Parts: sequence; C-alpha cells; structure tokens
Amino acid sequence: MNAIEVRNLVKRYGNFLALNDVTFNVKKGESFALLGPNGAGKTTFVRILSGQVKPTSGEVRVFGENTREFSKNVKKRLGVISHNTFLYDDLSAWENLGFYGKLYGVESLDKKIKEILSKMNLYERADDLVRNFSRGMKQRLAIARALLHSPDLVILDEPTAGLDIQSRMELFRLIDAIKAENRTIVFTTHNLEEVYRVCDVVAIMNKGQVLEITEVKESLDLKEYYLSLVEGS
Ligand code: ADP
Repeated sequence: MNAIEVRNLVKRYGNFLALNDVTFNVKKGESFALLGPNGAGKTTFVRILSGQVKPTSGEVRVFGENTREFSKNVKKRLGVISHNTFLYDDLSAWENLGFYGKLYGVESLDKKIKEILSKMNLYERADDLVRNFSRGMKQRLAIARALLHSPDLVILDEPTAGLDIQSRMELFRLIDAIKAENRTIVFTTHNLEEVYRVCDVVAIMNKGQVLEITEVKESLDLKEYYLSLVEGS
C-alpha cells in the first residue's frame, strides 16, 4: 500500500521550474530518502507534501488525500521537521509542546512531554523560554514537537543540520523506533552516510527531477551512483 503518491508534479516560481514533472510512490512503512545537491527541489517537494505550498500542476496524495485539500484528520497524521521550527519564542519548551499536544489531542500528554524532552536532552530546560535556546536546542525541541503525537508519516527536511553528535544519535534512535512501528519516513539530505543509516530507498534528485530511485543496500556504492547520475544530468 502506498503512503504517498506523486503524479506529474510541477512547481514553477515565475519562469523557474523548481519541480519538473515528478512521479513516484512511497510505500507505507518505507523510509524514503530524497538525496540531491542544493537547489535540486527537495525542500520545495517537502513543502508541497506537507500542504504548506500548492503545486503548479500535478498532484501529491498522502494516505489517499490530495495535499491541496488536506483534512484535519490527515494533518494530524503528519510530523514535519524542517528549517522552520514552528516554535513560539515567548513560550517555554514545555508550553510549546503542551500547545501542540492539545491541538493534536495527544493522550497522557504530560507523560509524553516529559518522555520526549528527556530523550532530546531538554528536560532540565523545560521551563526556559525558547527565545533563550541555542540553535541546536531549538532543533531538538522542534524534533520533539514533530514526534509528540506519534505521526504516521514523519517528514524530515535536513533534520541533522545544527545538531551535535549526541542529538544526532538520539534522532537516529527515534527514527529506528518509528521504523519498527511501520510508520513512514521521508528524509531529505545531502549526506550519503545518513542515507545508509536511515533509509531503505533513495531517490536521486537534481534540477527539479527525480533521476532514479533505488533500494539502499550495503553493496550499493551510493557515492559513485549518486555522482554518476548527478554529473550526467
Ligand atoms: P533543495 O532543498 O534541494 O536545496 P529547494 O527546493 O530549496 O532545493 O529549491 C529548488 C529551487 O527552487 C532553487 O533554485 C530555489 O532557488 C528555487 N526556489 C525555492 N523556493 C523559491 C521561491 N519561493 N521563489 C523562487 N524560487 C524558489
């Protein structure tokens, strides 16, 4: 069964084609990487996937619903980690998670907040205002916020940017747990190591197109594969 269906997706900014006729599927329970150089169109795709930006033409369906008209029900099944932290600076870490948790109707909310703040090494700073957090702390809290409601589809747009080694390892452990529960992951990166660590399938993107999609196996020389595709495109 497909969690995501992308059909002839096009996104234009003026005359510029950020996504140029992209078609692929992501199966339920798959951990799917979008790998490509800066400007390939990864973030544009993620914004469309999460309903933040409308396509110029074509469509993306998530759990059967078109991203142009997401119902509340489907929105609740998504967790997005991106450059935008979606955090309120004037609230504490705990208050931010409390706000989102109530919005998403999370049960046993206090227990869940405590659990995820501890995992992201932020429990001791729970009552501090987000405005006083470092970039890495904000990113850790953004991860906690995105995972608090146990989303069925977790969208991670370069999630390790700004994270220290420990937080990166903790994020990867959280991702392992998500995979073990057969939830779906879309992960954008330009880091080959992270693709091996996290993903089952990788789509190589360049200049608004998906060049090829392949399974991630130990035997795959991803660097060679990636460079030959990107340099040839
Ligand atoms: P990636 O995430 O792979 O680095 P992006 O999706 O951010 O790539 O960008 C793809 C291309 O689309 C880039 O050339 C970028 O400059 C352009 N682009 C992205 N957003 C906008 C926008 N709002 N207006 C104009 N051009 C944009």
